[in-house]
Amino acid sequence: MKRDHPDAGKALQNGRMKKSHGLADWRCKICTNPPWSNRSKANAKYHCRTKHLQ
Ligand SMILES: [Zn+2]
Repeated sequence: MKRDHPDAGKALQNGRMKKSHGLADWRCKICTNPPWSNRSKANAKYHCRTKHLQ
């Protein structure tokens, strides 16, 4: 089986918030206006799958 959405992961950018929080913030490289980000990697993947795989 081949992966049918290889770009989904590439669209995500993992950045760090404040050190005190220590939580990663997943941002979408494609969505800049408005910017999209989420603390959950699962939500980020779901976002890419549903918004950028048409
Ligand atoms: Zn997006």
